[in-house]
Amino acid sequence: MKEKSNILIIGAGLCGSLLALRMAQRGHEVTLVEKRPDLRKETQDAGRSINLALSDRGLKGLRLAGVEEAAKKLCIPMHGRMIHDRKGATFLSKYSGRTNEYINSISRPGLNMLLLDKAEKMPNVTLKFNHGCKTVDLENASATFKKYDTNEEVTLAGDIILGTDGAGSSVRKSMFNHKKFLFSFSQEWLTHGYKEISIPPAEDGGYRTYINALHIWPRGEDMLIALPNLDGSFTVTLFLPYSNSDYCFDTLTTREMVHEYFNKEFPDAVELMPHLAEEFFSNPTGPLGTIKCSPWSSYGKTLLLGDAAHAIVPFYGQGMNASFEDVVVFDEILEKFSSEGKESHWAEIFQTYEAARKKDTDAIADLAVDNFHEMKEHTASPLFQKKRKLETA
Ligand code: FAD
Repeated sequence: MKEKSNILIIGAGLCGSLLALRMAQRGHEVTLVEKRPDLRKETQDAGRSINLALSDRGLKGLRLAGVEEAAKKLCIPMHGRMIHDRKGATFLSKYSGRTNEYINSISRPGLNMLLLDKAEKMPNVTLKFNHGCKTVDLENASATFKKYDTNEEVTLAGDIILGTDGAGSSVRKSMFNHKKFLFSFSQEWLTHGYKEISIPPAEDGGYRTYINALHIWPRGEDMLIALPNLDGSFTVTLFLPYSNSDYCFDTLTTREMVHEYFNKEFPDAVELMPHLAEEFFSNPTGPLGTIKCSPWSSYGKTLLLGDAAHAIVPFYGQGMNASFEDVVVFDEILEKFSSEGKESHWAEIFQTYEAARKKDTDAIADLAVDNFHEMKEHTASPLFQKKRKLETA
């Protein structure tokens, strides 16, 4: 008889909800706790990216938990980058010469809801929303939460805690503040932030621009990208310096300035965005950063996964994919330990997992920063376009 554990998972975003499902499939008793309300019942504020590029790495995680086919129904294939120059001319730079190799655009809330639905159907999963984790008692695997609907404070405990509470992780902060072991932490911000704007569906409900591509308007210092949604719209993201540039978040303070900037840099996109200025001022500006830390675990009782362990900038479209890959690697290690009758040797499991995984997440973090420069500068160059034509011919 295999030993089963009580697992407390903090953060029911993309990584936490997939992890909860998989840990329950492995037979553990899972409590999944989330600070926000249930997004299946209450619309959440805009702010996080609405859609994401889902690649093969991410699909592997979904396949492991038996949700790949359901997730694919939410996907729009993107076969390449559609590059838009200043004059409005476009050029499709394919990701591959093979038609079956592409990435997918998927809705963040849609995918999160699917994973929550699947997790909730498991008899050994309990979901708790409106519970914001304040601190974790690392030595005893218990955590204190504020219940936002009643203002009460509650403590929940498990045999182990898995921290999947994202880039601003409270679980990680408890490790940082603990001071009884050496905890390395680094956070590096880009000089750029991001803001989302929308391209609504066309009057007839169709798409206003080519659907099966990741659109990019590279302009050297700044960049616009757009990914398609199933309802005919696109979610557009502007990456722009905060300051020290003629056009930056600090200087774009009036509707006139916003229109002047977009008409100069992205004239063909302006035609597609009827609510440009109003969305520019109503949507938040988000920061872009890389977080690295180590160790990811403490006392064999708490482990960080997903963005909580390794938040990266979005320019390789790999943050969620890497978080899903975390679940695959963690599961492989659990399988190995389980086959040796060591399924509850958590300290060793956590250390083996970090040793196997950290070099890869460090590498993708650095590649993602490099790709920021490639996307905003080099994809616009005639040399790049010629090279890609030859590669994909
Ligand atoms: P999150 O998705 O952040 O989930 C964390 C969860 O924990 C949230 O539900 C949060 O409410 C909850 N939480 C937070 N604090 C607490 C607390 N104290 N108590 C309880 N719950 C808490 N990745 C891709 O693979 N492809 C892309 O195309 C892509 N595009 C992106 C575009 C942008 C602009 C940004 C910013 C990111 C992008 N990413 C992309 C990265 C991706 O969003 C993250 O890597 C992914 O969301 C990580 O999942 P996670 O579950 O670890 O964290």
